[in-house]
Amino acid sequence: MTGWKGTGAGGTARGRAQGAGGPAAAGTGTHEARDAGHAAPQVEAPGSPRAAGPELGVDAGEEGLVPPHGGRLCRRLVDDPALAAERRAAAQAAGLPRLLLSPRERSDLELLATGALSPLEGFMTAEDYHGCVDAMRLASGLPWSLPVVLSVPPDQVEAVRRAPAVLLVDEGGRPCGLMEVRDVFRRDRQREAVLVFGTTDVAHPGVARLAGESDWCAGGPVVVFERQPTWAREWVLEPAETRRLFARRGWRLVAGFQTRNPLHRAHEYLQKCALEMVDGLLLHPLVGETKADDLPRHVVLESYRVAVRAYYPQERVVLAAFPAAMRYAGPREALFHALIRKNYGCSHFIVGRDHAGVGSYYDPYAAHRIFDRFAPEELGVIPLRFEHAFYCRRCGAMATVKTCPHPPADRLHLSGTRVRAMLRAGELPPPEFTRPEVAELLRDALAAQGA
Ligand SMILES: [Zn+2]
Repeated sequence: MTGWKGTGAGGTARGRAQGAGGPAAAGTGTHEARDAGHAAPQVEAPGSPRAAGPELGVDAGEEGLVPPHGGRLCRRLVDDPALAAERRAAAQAAGLPRLLLSPRERSDLELLATGALSPLEGFMTAEDYHGCVDAMRLASGLPWSLPVVLSVPPDQVEAVRRAPAVLLVDEGGRPCGLMEVRDVFRRDRQREAVLVFGTTDVAHPGVARLAGESDWCAGGPVVVFERQPTWAREWVLEPAETRRLFARRGWRLVAGFQTRNPLHRAHEYLQKCALEMVDGLLLHPLVGETKADDLPRHVVLESYRVAVRAYYPQERVVLAAFPAAMRYAGPREALFHALIRKNYGCSHFIVGRDHAGVGSYYDPYAAHRIFDRFAPEELGVIPLRFEHAFYCRRCGAMATVKTCPHPPADRLHLSGTRVRAMLRAGELPPPEFTRPEVAELLRDALAAQGA
């Protein structure tokens, strides 16, 4: 994909170049880890600052957890398989137009199925879309920073416009859901690129994907017949499940952590700083579509599994996979990630330097500042803003510029490129940079990749 497609008829390619499938297997022993991560639900987490809730402005929901965005989980999945099969057959028999979902759209449908995108009940109508792109608000006024749209190839626009509903079909040709057509509208994708990604450069992976989509979108509530097949199935918990798990452990304040990278000490430090202040931690590596040069997602998940088992208090951490696609929208995606984790029950969300960034498209602190554009009570989730962390030889500890007074020469700095080169040469980065268990895993993964 090298440029923007035409705006009108003909531009039907929908950016299918990037593969949708996950790596074949997550390796063995994942049950064990999941059990370890979820073991022995504790009623009282030790040392939890339970009384801190009101002072921190957290509005507790029913389970004592922060309520979902908009007040309730909007779950769109038909749970009963027999009923789902019946509805699917009825939809197929009705001769409705079929729309082929891109990997990003399929991931969005999965999130809609489980209520992770609450208050959205489906793909956006024009009103929600324009509110989101222009002002980062849904038509209802609720903050929302990234479009969740269903693009319609130009040659299907008329058929979709006339239809009461469309059948949503996955890459394997399987109808996985139904959308009631409330709206068919045209969007200006270049304008969307500027407002959402801050650039129209197709070298940006999010822009490249948008450039391959259509100008036309259809919006309306969805019904989902089946969950998205994924290699990470046993790791995926839906918002109602994480909420139940947190409640069972007696957690009220939970910090969420989003990542698409393997676990190094710097992120461990941020997570543990957060864990000093809250009842529990949701480690939520993303397992949906990422750009081709990101490390395979099963390796990322595995790095968390081994580190959590060895270095985290099991009863205060939940490790689960987040089945979303990356958009690389920097600050807007930081806010999007925070609101979604609120739906999973997180009262706090860790925002590092250059969250969801790519290349040098974003000011590294824009992802911190975007939260200031909203009143805390309308967000309902508290950003924990962190500086870049490092190991300081003179402090003899992990630190950031907020806690370490020493010059850069005292700090252990290794670029991603340097770490990869070390690992490829069979060399392990120092334990102050990466836990040995993780380093070995990454070395082996890179060796397997390079083979
Ligand atoms: Zn220092």
